Amino acid sequence: MAVNVEHFRKIQIELTSAQVTLVAVSKTKPNEDIMALYELGQRDFGENYVQELVDKASSLPKDIRWHFIGHLQTNKVKFIADFVYLIHAVDSEKLLKEIDKQGKKLNKKIPVLLQMHIATEETKFGFDQIELENLPYKNYENTAVEGLMGMASFSDEEEIIMQEFKMLHQVYDNMKTKDGNLNVLSMGMSGDYPTAIQQGSNMVRIGSLLFGVRN
Ligand SMILES: *Cc1c(COP(=O)(O)O)cnc(C)c1O
Repeated sequence: MAVNVEHFRKIQIELTSAQVTLVAVSKTKPNEDIMALYELGQRDFGENYVQELVDKASSLPKDIRWHFIGHLQTNKVKFIADFVYLIHAVDSEKLLKEIDKQGKKLNKKIPVLLQMHIATEETKFGFDQIELENLPYKNYENTAVEGLMGMASFSDEEEIIMQEFKMLHQVYDNMKTKDGNLNVLSMGMSGDYPTAIQQGSNMVRIGSLLFGVRN
């Protein structure tokens, strides 16, 4: 079995004492791996691909909380809208609008995070600070914006990563002064989660440390 139970236990202890939620990122991994962690009590799982998520959600236990953490195309929102627990990476108003539309059809509020672009790489997605602070997200009544999400640069320099997470935390704190509903700051992955927690993360998305490296 590919699941690293020792890492899972260790991470669980670290996160529990810091009151941080673990999203186990199971993209590309088989159902058996998900079930191995499920049986140890894990309920929050993260996926990046719509079709893969739909397939897994239909065959795995209904009490799993599915997080969609990847870049989401507007034309695919409808496939996950009725069961997704939290969409992490809303990176445009167009996407927010579409999620809202699907929420309206289902007569519910779909929980989302807004993604901020904090990395130096241009390839990463997300809003900048000005865009975030001016986004009229409260107009979208069938989405519930619960917080922010970000990905740090792919770098060995801890200082750079630290500064990026710090910036995200500051923007989050600023936005919280105007919106008491914000309560999720999703930052940190296998390689940088301790730094993210130091900088105030309360939700980490960890894949390879739990499930082994992906192909
Ligand atoms: C794949 C992925 C992760 C997990 O990455 P690991 O380095 O395997 O922990 C976290 N967040 C996002 C957005 C991802 O796409």
